[in-house]
Amino acid sequence: MPSALFPDQTCLPHVGGGGEAGGRKQGEGPSGPSPSPHLAQTPDDLPYIPNRAAWRRALRKQLHADAPPPARPYSPASYPQCFRGVFAVFLTEDFREVHLAPLTCGKWSCPDCSDRKVARAIAQMLAGDPERHLTLTTRPRPGMRYDHAVKWLRKCFAKLITRARKVWGPQQYFMVPEPHASGWPHLHVLLRGSYIARLWVKRNWADITGSPNIDIKVVRSAPNAARDLAKYLSKSAPILAAFPTKLRPFTHSKGWLPEDFNDPTKLDEVRLFVGLARVSPSVAEETFRLLGCHVAPGQDGPVRIVARPRGPPPTDVAAHLLTYGDSGQRTLAALVASAVPPAGAPRPSIDDVKDRIDYLTDDRRPF
Ligand SMILES: [Zn+2]
Repeated sequence: MPSALFPDQTCLPHVGGGGEAGGRKQGEGPSGPSPSPHLAQTPDDLPYIPNRAAWRRALRKQLHADAPPPARPYSPASYPQCFRGVFAVFLTEDFREVHLAPLTCGKWSCPDCSDRKVARAIAQMLAGDPERHLTLTTRPRPGMRYDHAVKWLRKCFAKLITRARKVWGPQQYFMVPEPHASGWPHLHVLLRGSYIARLWVKRNWADITGSPNIDIKVVRSAPNAARDLAKYLSKSAPILAAFPTKLRPFTHSKGWLPEDFNDPTKLDEVRLFVGLARVSPSVAEETFRLLGCHVAPGQDGPVRIVARPRGPPPTDVAAHLLTYGDSGQRTLAALVASAVPPAGAPRPSIDDVKDRIDYLTDDRRPF
Protein backbone atom coordinates (compact mmCIF):
# COMPACT_ATOMS: atom_id res chain seq x y z
CA MET A 1 0.00 0.00 0.00
CA PRO A 2 1.33 3.44 -0.83
CA SER A 3 2.07 4.64 2.64
CA ALA A 4 4.12 7.41 1.01
CA LEU A 5 0.81 8.99 0.09
CA PHE A 6 0.16 10.12 3.61
CA PRO A 7 2.78 11.96 5.62
CA ASP A 8 1.32 10.71 8.82
CA GLN A 9 -1.23 7.96 9.28
CA THR A 10 -2.90 9.85 12.08
CA CYS A 11 -3.86 12.50 9.54
CA LEU A 12 -6.14 10.15 7.68
CA PRO A 13 -9.45 11.76 6.98
CA HIS A 14 -12.27 11.66 9.41
CA VAL A 15 -15.65 11.61 7.79
CA GLY A 16 -18.67 13.27 9.35
CA GLY A 17 -16.64 15.27 11.81
CA GLY A 18 -19.36 15.43 14.43
CA GLY A 19 -18.56 11.95 15.67
CA GLU A 20 -15.12 13.03 16.78
CA ALA A 21 -16.43 15.44 19.31
CA GLY A 22 -16.22 12.85 22.06
CA GLY A 23 -13.37 14.77 23.66
CA ARG A 24 -15.72 17.54 24.58
CA LYS A 25 -16.61 17.37 28.22
CA GLN A 26 -20.00 18.65 29.14
CA GLY A 27 -19.08 20.11 32.46
CA GLU A 28 -15.99 21.85 31.19
CA GLY A 29 -15.19 24.65 28.87
CA PRO A 30 -15.84 28.33 29.06
CA SER A 31 -18.76 28.35 31.38
CA GLY A 32 -19.50 30.52 34.32
CA PRO A 33 -22.16 29.76 36.88
CA SER A 34 -25.24 28.44 35.14
CA PRO A 35 -27.59 31.41 34.98
CA SER A 36 -31.30 31.46 35.57
CA PRO A 37 -34.01 33.14 33.53
CA HIS A 38 -35.06 35.21 36.51
CA LEU A 39 -31.79 37.03 36.48
CA ALA A 40 -32.07 40.59 37.68
CA GLN A 41 -33.85 42.37 34.85
CA THR A 42 -33.64 45.72 36.60
CA PRO A 43 -30.50 47.17 38.09
CA ASP A 44 -32.38 47.91 41.34
CA ASP A 45 -32.26 44.21 42.19
CA LEU A 46 -28.51 44.36 42.47
CA PRO A 47 -26.96 45.25 45.78
CA TYR A 48 -24.24 47.87 45.45
CA ILE A 49 -21.13 46.26 46.87
CA PRO A 50 -17.81 48.04 46.34
CA ASN A 51 -15.73 44.89 46.41
CA ARG A 52 -15.04 42.63 43.50
CA ALA A 53 -15.26 39.30 45.33
CA ALA A 54 -18.41 40.33 47.14
CA TRP A 55 -19.93 41.57 43.89
CA ARG A 56 -19.24 38.22 42.28
CA ARG A 57 -20.66 36.34 45.28
CA ALA A 58 -23.79 38.44 45.23
CA LEU A 59 -24.14 37.95 41.52
CA ARG A 60 -23.74 34.19 41.84
CA LYS A 61 -26.23 34.05 44.70
CA GLN A 62 -28.69 35.97 42.63
CA LEU A 63 -28.14 33.69 39.66
CA HIS A 64 -28.79 30.56 41.68
CA ALA A 65 -31.69 32.02 43.60
CA ASP A 66 -34.33 30.60 41.30
CA ALA A 67 -34.56 26.92 40.59
CA PRO A 68 -34.90 24.98 38.35
CA PRO A 69 -32.51 26.20 35.67
CA PRO A 70 -34.17 26.14 32.25
CA ALA A 71 -32.76 24.71 29.01
CA ARG A 72 -30.22 27.27 27.84
CA PRO A 73 -29.20 28.05 24.31
CA TYR A 74 -25.63 28.78 25.44
CA SER A 75 -24.04 25.66 26.85
CA PRO A 76 -20.34 24.78 26.53
CA ALA A 77 -21.39 21.83 24.36
CA SER A 78 -22.92 24.12 21.76
CA TYR A 79 -19.60 25.91 21.17
CA PRO A 80 -16.88 24.69 18.81
CA GLN A 81 -14.44 22.35 20.46
CA CYS A 82 -11.55 24.69 19.70
CA PHE A 83 -13.26 27.75 21.25
CA ARG A 84 -11.04 29.14 23.99
CA GLY A 85 -13.42 31.72 25.37
CA VAL A 86 -12.54 34.64 23.11
CA PHE A 87 -15.29 36.27 21.09
CA ALA A 88 -14.98 38.63 18.15
CA VAL A 89 -17.34 41.52 18.86
CA PHE A 90 -19.34 43.15 16.07
CA LEU A 91 -21.89 45.93 15.93
CA THR A 92 -24.54 46.06 13.22
CA GLU A 93 -24.38 49.17 11.10
CA ASP A 94 -27.43 50.66 12.76
CA PHE A 95 -25.85 50.02 16.21
CA ARG A 96 -28.96 48.09 17.24
CA GLU A 97 -27.30 44.75 17.79
CA VAL A 98 -24.09 43.52 19.35
CA HIS A 99 -22.88 40.18 17.96
CA LEU A 100 -20.42 37.94 19.76
CA ALA A 101 -18.91 35.35 17.42
CA PRO A 102 -16.60 32.71 18.93
CA LEU A 103 -13.03 32.79 17.65
CA THR A 104 -12.13 29.38 16.30
CA CYS A 105 -9.01 27.66 14.96
CA GLY A 106 -10.32 27.37 11.39
CA LYS A 107 -8.35 24.18 10.73
CA TRP A 108 -9.52 21.35 8.50
CA SER A 109 -8.35 18.89 11.13
CA CYS A 110 -10.81 20.40 13.65
CA PRO A 111 -14.21 18.66 13.42
CA ASP A 112 -16.22 21.79 14.21
CA CYS A 113 -14.26 24.12 11.95
CA SER A 114 -14.18 21.68 9.04
CA ASP A 115 -17.98 21.32 9.29
CA ARG A 116 -18.28 25.08 8.94
CA LYS A 117 -15.81 25.22 6.05
CA VAL A 118 -17.69 22.45 4.27
CA ALA A 119 -20.95 24.35 4.75
CA ARG A 120 -19.37 27.40 3.10
CA ALA A 121 -18.10 25.26 0.22
CA ILE A 122 -21.61 23.85 -0.28
CA ALA A 123 -22.93 27.41 -0.51
CA GLN A 124 -20.35 28.14 -3.23
CA MET A 125 -21.20 24.96 -5.13
CA LEU A 126 -24.91 25.80 -5.13
CA ALA A 127 -24.31 29.46 -6.00
CA GLY A 128 -22.68 28.29 -9.25
CA ASP A 129 -25.80 26.42 -10.48
CA PRO A 130 -24.16 23.09 -11.38
CA GLU A 131 -25.54 21.35 -14.49
CA ARG A 132 -23.26 18.33 -14.89
CA HIS A 133 -21.15 16.17 -12.56
CA LEU A 134 -17.92 14.95 -14.14
CA THR A 135 -15.73 12.32 -12.49
CA LEU A 136 -12.16 11.94 -13.75
CA THR A 137 -10.10 8.96 -12.71
CA THR A 138 -6.54 7.94 -13.57
CA ARG A 139 -4.31 5.00 -12.87
CA PRO A 140 -2.23 5.52 -9.69
CA ARG A 141 1.39 6.53 -10.12
CA PRO A 142 3.31 4.48 -7.58
CA GLY A 143 5.25 6.44 -4.97
CA MET A 144 3.64 9.80 -5.65
CA ARG A 145 2.53 11.78 -2.63
CA TYR A 146 -1.17 12.65 -2.26
CA ASP A 147 -0.67 16.41 -2.61
CA HIS A 148 1.61 16.00 -5.63
CA ALA A 149 -0.92 13.67 -7.19
CA VAL A 150 -3.69 16.25 -6.69
CA LYS A 151 -1.48 18.93 -8.21
CA TRP A 152 -0.77 16.73 -11.24
CA LEU A 153 -4.46 15.88 -11.68
CA ARG A 154 -5.34 19.56 -11.56
CA LYS A 155 -2.83 20.33 -14.30
CA CYS A 156 -4.35 17.57 -16.42
CA PHE A 157 -7.81 18.94 -15.77
CA ALA A 158 -6.68 22.46 -16.73
CA LYS A 159 -5.58 21.08 -20.12
CA LEU A 160 -8.89 19.27 -20.54
CA ILE A 161 -11.02 22.31 -19.74
CA THR A 162 -8.98 24.53 -22.08
CA ARG A 163 -9.63 22.09 -24.91
CA ALA A 164 -13.30 21.76 -23.97
CA ARG A 165 -13.80 25.51 -24.03
CA LYS A 166 -12.27 25.73 -27.50
CA VAL A 167 -14.43 22.94 -28.89
CA TRP A 168 -17.72 23.21 -26.98
CA GLY A 169 -17.87 26.78 -25.69
CA PRO A 170 -17.82 28.42 -22.25
CA GLN A 171 -17.48 26.15 -19.21
CA GLN A 172 -17.37 27.00 -15.51
CA TYR A 173 -16.31 24.43 -12.95
CA PHE A 174 -16.05 23.64 -9.25
CA MET A 175 -13.56 20.86 -8.49
CA VAL A 176 -12.89 18.64 -5.47
CA PRO A 177 -10.34 15.80 -5.29
CA GLU A 178 -11.34 12.61 -3.50
CA PRO A 179 -8.94 9.96 -2.19
CA HIS A 180 -9.75 6.48 -3.42
CA ALA A 181 -9.49 3.61 -0.91
CA SER A 182 -5.95 3.06 -2.22
CA GLY A 183 -5.09 6.66 -1.33
CA TRP A 184 -4.79 7.78 -4.95
CA PRO A 185 -6.99 10.80 -5.74
CA HIS A 186 -9.54 11.31 -8.50
CA LEU A 187 -11.44 14.46 -9.37
CA HIS A 188 -15.08 15.38 -8.98
CA VAL A 189 -16.08 18.37 -11.06
CA LEU A 190 -19.34 20.27 -11.15
CA LEU A 191 -19.80 21.93 -14.54
CA ARG A 192 -21.97 24.70 -15.88
CA GLY A 193 -21.92 25.58 -19.56
CA SER A 194 -22.41 24.13 -23.00
CA TYR A 195 -23.02 20.46 -23.65
CA ILE A 196 -19.89 18.28 -23.89
CA ALA A 197 -20.04 14.83 -25.49
CA ARG A 198 -19.01 11.98 -23.21
CA LEU A 199 -16.90 10.33 -25.92
CA TRP A 200 -15.01 13.54 -26.53
CA VAL A 201 -14.13 13.82 -22.79
CA LYS A 202 -13.10 10.16 -22.70
CA ARG A 203 -10.83 10.53 -25.71
CA ASN A 204 -9.20 13.72 -24.50
CA TRP A 205 -8.76 12.56 -20.89
CA ALA A 206 -7.05 9.43 -22.25
CA ASP A 207 -4.91 11.59 -24.48
CA ILE A 208 -3.82 13.79 -21.54
CA THR A 209 -3.45 11.20 -18.77
CA GLY A 210 -3.41 7.82 -20.49
CA SER A 211 -6.59 6.76 -18.63
CA PRO A 212 -9.97 6.73 -20.37
CA ASN A 213 -11.92 6.51 -17.09
CA ILE A 214 -14.49 9.25 -16.94
CA ASP A 215 -18.11 9.59 -15.95
CA ILE A 216 -20.41 12.47 -16.74
CA LYS A 217 -23.93 12.82 -15.37
CA VAL A 218 -26.61 15.45 -15.58
CA VAL A 219 -27.18 17.07 -12.18
CA ARG A 220 -30.86 16.50 -11.38
CA SER A 221 -30.67 17.82 -7.84
CA ALA A 222 -28.03 20.47 -7.12
CA PRO A 223 -28.29 20.02 -3.32
CA ASN A 224 -27.65 16.27 -3.68
CA ALA A 225 -24.67 16.85 -5.97
CA ALA A 226 -23.28 19.46 -3.56
CA ARG A 227 -23.74 17.08 -0.63
CA ASP A 228 -21.83 14.37 -2.51
CA LEU A 229 -18.93 16.69 -3.24
CA ALA A 230 -19.00 17.94 0.35
CA LYS A 231 -18.47 14.36 1.51
CA TYR A 232 -15.39 14.04 -0.73
CA LEU A 233 -14.17 17.42 0.42
CA SER A 234 -14.29 16.47 4.09
CA LYS A 235 -12.32 13.31 3.26
CA SER A 236 -9.68 15.02 1.17
CA ALA A 237 -9.17 18.40 2.83
CA PRO A 238 -7.64 17.19 6.14
CA ILE A 239 -5.15 15.07 4.16
CA LEU A 240 -4.12 18.01 1.97
CA ALA A 241 -3.88 20.29 5.02
CA ALA A 242 -1.35 17.92 6.61
CA PHE A 243 1.17 18.50 3.78
CA PRO A 244 3.45 21.53 3.74
CA THR A 245 2.33 22.38 0.18
CA LYS A 246 -1.02 23.56 1.60
CA LEU A 247 -2.92 23.07 -1.65
CA ARG A 248 -6.41 24.53 -1.65
CA PRO A 249 -8.86 21.71 -0.87
CA PHE A 250 -11.14 22.78 -3.71
CA THR A 251 -10.92 25.12 -6.67
CA HIS A 252 -13.36 26.77 -9.01
CA SER A 253 -13.15 28.74 -12.22
CA LYS A 254 -13.25 32.53 -12.10
CA GLY A 255 -16.79 32.68 -13.41
CA TRP A 256 -18.25 29.93 -11.21
CA LEU A 257 -19.64 32.26 -8.55
CA PRO A 258 -22.14 35.01 -9.38
CA GLU A 259 -20.39 38.35 -9.68
CA ASP A 260 -21.91 39.77 -6.52
CA PHE A 261 -21.23 36.66 -4.43
CA ASN A 262 -18.43 38.29 -2.44
CA ASP A 263 -19.62 41.88 -2.76
CA PRO A 264 -19.74 43.31 0.78
CA THR A 265 -22.25 45.98 -0.25
CA LYS A 266 -24.74 43.22 -1.14
CA LEU A 267 -24.83 41.79 2.35
CA ASP A 268 -28.14 41.75 4.17
CA GLU A 269 -26.50 43.70 6.93
CA VAL A 270 -23.06 45.10 7.54
CA ARG A 271 -21.36 44.22 10.81
CA LEU A 272 -18.60 46.42 12.12
CA PHE A 273 -15.75 44.74 13.96
CA VAL A 274 -15.27 46.36 17.34
CA GLY A 275 -12.72 44.18 19.10
CA LEU A 276 -12.19 40.99 21.06
CA ALA A 277 -13.64 39.98 24.40
CA ARG A 278 -12.45 37.15 26.62
CA VAL A 279 -15.64 36.07 28.35
CA SER A 280 -17.59 32.88 28.86
CA PRO A 281 -20.90 32.61 26.98
CA SER A 282 -23.01 32.51 30.13
CA VAL A 283 -21.22 35.47 31.71
CA ALA A 284 -21.59 37.41 28.45
CA GLU A 285 -25.29 36.69 28.48
CA GLU A 286 -25.69 37.76 32.10
CA THR A 287 -23.66 40.87 31.52
CA PHE A 288 -25.76 41.94 28.56
CA ARG A 289 -28.94 41.36 30.57
CA LEU A 290 -27.60 43.47 33.43
CA LEU A 291 -26.88 46.20 30.91
CA GLY A 292 -30.54 46.17 29.90
CA CYS A 293 -30.14 44.26 26.62
CA HIS A 294 -32.40 41.66 25.08
CA VAL A 295 -30.24 38.56 24.48
CA ALA A 296 -30.95 35.92 21.82
CA PRO A 297 -29.04 33.25 19.92
CA GLY A 298 -27.84 34.23 16.45
CA GLN A 299 -29.73 33.21 13.33
CA ASP A 300 -27.01 30.75 12.35
CA GLY A 301 -27.33 28.80 15.62
CA PRO A 302 -26.93 29.36 19.32
CA VAL A 303 -23.16 29.75 18.99
CA ARG A 304 -23.40 33.43 18.23
CA ILE A 305 -24.73 35.68 20.99
CA VAL A 306 -26.83 38.59 19.82
CA ALA A 307 -27.68 41.39 22.24
CA ARG A 308 -30.07 44.23 21.46
CA PRO A 309 -29.67 47.19 23.81
CA ARG A 310 -33.06 48.56 24.81
CA GLY A 311 -31.52 51.92 25.57
CA PRO A 312 -28.51 53.40 27.32
CA PRO A 313 -27.41 51.03 30.10
CA PRO A 314 -28.24 51.87 33.74
CA THR A 315 -25.36 54.10 34.81
CA ASP A 316 -24.66 52.35 38.10
CA VAL A 317 -24.62 48.90 36.51
CA ALA A 318 -22.26 50.07 33.77
CA ALA A 319 -20.02 51.74 36.36
CA HIS A 320 -20.06 48.61 38.48
CA LEU A 321 -19.11 46.34 35.62
CA LEU A 322 -16.42 48.74 34.45
CA THR A 323 -14.94 48.83 37.94
CA TYR A 324 -15.39 45.32 39.24
CA GLY A 325 -16.07 43.20 36.19
CA ASP A 326 -13.39 41.05 34.62
CA SER A 327 -11.84 42.11 31.33
CA GLY A 328 -14.63 40.59 29.20
CA GLN A 329 -17.40 42.22 31.25
CA ARG A 330 -15.59 45.56 31.11
CA THR A 331 -15.39 45.33 27.32
CA LEU A 332 -19.10 44.53 26.98
CA ALA A 333 -20.09 47.28 29.41
CA ALA A 334 -17.88 49.79 27.60
CA LEU A 335 -19.34 48.71 24.29
CA VAL A 336 -22.97 49.09 25.30
CA ALA A 337 -22.25 52.31 27.21
CA SER A 338 -20.45 53.95 24.32
CA ALA A 339 -22.44 52.60 21.37
CA VAL A 340 -25.92 53.43 22.69
CA PRO A 341 -26.25 57.16 23.15
CA PRO A 342 -28.86 58.68 25.47
CA ALA A 343 -32.03 59.83 23.70
CA GLY A 344 -31.40 62.89 21.59
CA ALA A 345 -27.62 62.56 21.62
CA PRO A 346 -25.89 62.02 18.27
CA ARG A 347 -24.70 58.50 17.57
CA PRO A 348 -20.93 58.06 17.82
CA SER A 349 -18.88 56.80 14.89
CA ILE A 350 -17.50 53.26 14.99
CA ASP A 351 -14.00 54.65 15.63
CA ASP A 352 -15.35 56.64 18.56
CA VAL A 353 -16.85 53.46 19.95
CA LYS A 354 -13.55 51.61 19.61
CA ASP A 355 -11.62 54.46 21.25
CA ARG A 356 -14.05 54.63 24.14
CA ILE A 357 -13.91 50.89 24.68
CA ASP A 358 -10.12 51.08 24.74
CA TYR A 359 -10.29 53.90 27.23
CA LEU A 360 -13.00 52.47 29.46
CA THR A 361 -11.44 49.01 29.63
CA ASP A 362 -7.90 50.22 30.22
CA ASP A 363 -6.76 48.96 33.61
CA ARG A 364 -4.39 51.88 34.09
CA ARG A 365 -7.25 54.37 33.87
CA PRO A 366 -7.47 56.36 37.11
CA PHE A 367 -10.81 56.09 38.88
ZN1 LIG B 1 -11.53 24.67 15.21
